[in-house]
Amino acid sequence: MKKKTGLISQQMSAQRRPLVLLGGVSLALGAAIVGQAVLLAESVEKIFVQRASLSSVAVMLVVLLGVMAARTLLSYGNGRIGLQMAARAKTDMRAAVLRKLTKASMPMALRGQTGGKVSVVLDAVDEADSYFSQYVPRMMEAAIIPILILAVVFTQHMNSGFIMLVTAPFIPIFMVLVGLKTKNKSEEKFAQLAEFSGTFLDSLQGLVSLKLFGRARDHQQDIERSSMGYRDATMDILRIAFTNTFMLESIVMLGIGIVALELALQLLVFKSLSFHTAFLILLLVPEFYGLLKNTGTAFHSGRTSMGAIRKVEEMLEETQAEEAATSRREGADHRDGTGELDGTTAVDKPGTSGGGFIQMPPSIELRDVRFQYTPDSFELAVGSISFAPGEHIAIVGKSGSGKTTLLHLVAGLLKPVSGEVLVNGSALQSDDEASWFDHVSYITQHPFIFAGTFADNIAIGAGRDVSRADVEQAAEAAGLAAVAAVLEHGYDTFVGEGGRGLSGGEKQRLALARAFLKRPAVILFDEPTVGLDLHTERVLQLSIAELASKATMITVAHRLYTIKDADKILFMDNGALLGCGRHEELLARLPQYAEMVDAHRKGRFA
Ligand code: ADP
Repeated sequence: MKKKTGLISQQMSAQRRPLVLLGGVSLALGAAIVGQAVLLAESVEKIFVQRASLSSVAVMLVVLLGVMAARTLLSYGNGRIGLQMAARAKTDMRAAVLRKLTKASMPMALRGQTGGKVSVVLDAVDEADSYFSQYVPRMMEAAIIPILILAVVFTQHMNSGFIMLVTAPFIPIFMVLVGLKTKNKSEEKFAQLAEFSGTFLDSLQGLVSLKLFGRARDHQQDIERSSMGYRDATMDILRIAFTNTFMLESIVMLGIGIVALELALQLLVFKSLSFHTAFLILLLVPEFYGLLKNTGTAFHSGRTSMGAIRKVEEMLEETQAEEAATSRREGADHRDGTGELDGTTAVDKPGTSGGGFIQMPPSIELRDVRFQYTPDSFELAVGSISFAPGEHIAIVGKSGSGKTTLLHLVAGLLKPVSGEVLVNGSALQSDDEASWFDHVSYITQHPFIFAGTFADNIAIGAGRDVSRADVEQAAEAAGLAAVAAVLEHGYDTFVGEGGRGLSGGEKQRLALARAFLKRPAVILFDEPTVGLDLHTERVLQLSIAELASKATMITVAHRLYTIKDADKILFMDNGALLGCGRHEELLARLPQYAEMVDAHRKGRFA
């Protein structure tokens, strides 16, 4: 009847116990429903037809009350099991999405709209709730209880049984027809919602630029358009849902009507039926159709959920292909057996973090590395280069020549299309990734400032619990103490989204303070392109020098002094490595380099 999606079958096999429990409770519920009808029919027969005294039926009435209470409890139990299954499924799905996003490579994780992803993680997963909390319990009930009722009716009066048997299939047939339609509609609704969230968040984040370029109105219209699209998709689903309910009610009324008519004829005209039997059947018939009808409603919400679950799955699948490619590559590396460390002399190991497999600072080697973001786009091919432990490398070149891309490749944030990056002679496996990142600090011009206090934002760099004194010491070393001193609440001032903003120079020093807490063995430094004031410039220079004294440092360099002091300069042009050597060497050998240095001297180079 329906094609289960991968995530659903995964959940079904993971949650076998609650499913079995659900089956057991449904069976008991069926017994309670039949028992209640039998007892009620019996009591009415005794009191009104046989005119028995109240005391003679008292016990039966008490039992009836007990059965009613049990029925309520069982019904509640089924609901609870459903809710628990839903809660677990949602937690699992969110965890799976987050795991995928954190494991995926950087370009993969950043692809697409942030708002769209948020909507999948929050809304789509929430929408999946009703599949487990309503659809599954109702379906389980529908698979057990109506059959039980039908069996009882057949033993009492065959004709009614046949009428029920003939009319009942109309309900599932109708459900399937409507369900098929709603599934597509609900997928459409989710696509609309994701687009709406995406447009909204993008506009919010870029509000300053939009205002400056006078495009705020256009974007407002975009948001309006996508919100209208979402509204239309929702209204479509509601329309189908209402028509669905109306049709189901009609079928149910008709079914009950026909059975009642037949019973009346048998009871009054042909006198071939006892009052007790007729009444019992009349009590059971609405239960029978009621259950099927509930299933119809649950089926509808189940379908809506499946549309949402499909969205979550699509997001998971997107990263799947890339993951498979990575593991194939890593499998090949394992077979090559380059796992042994080369014998580079270990310089004393800085910091406290211990990633046993790496001697620190490490030697880094690029072997025939080639990289492309997408096929037919910018290509970076730098051939083979190696950096000795503790070396300071400067990457220079025009804007767009591939400096940042090269830095990200060395950091392991991007994976080469071909060739490999070797750390201490062995390729990084994804299992080593965490311990490798334990040794790396990336000081960017635009570090992410989380919504939190100034101190929290520094402490995050350590990757472990650190004391307030450590944080203040790191801030001091990065030249941030003076900044903290003038903040309204000092280190406890709220910064980041919704808090106080930080200037470019402050942000970079924050990144530096994070690095001071970590004391990394590998520093990736994206030097500021814009001129900072002399004092900040000086603080940065000194702090970086201190931090880099025991580390391998790779800098995307824009300052002449950084370039001149580097042990090795990589001169990039349009994705290729034009030259590699010390300042004097390149000056003598490479006219383009001499030209760049000249431009720097004249202050024409950023
Ligand atoms: P640089 O740091 O030297 O200014 P980059 O390494 O940032 O240069 O960029 C090199 C080239 O790669 C540019 O042409 C840029 O447009 C392209 N590029 C950078 N990032 C991406 C990305 N995420 N996706 C596709 N192309 C990119």
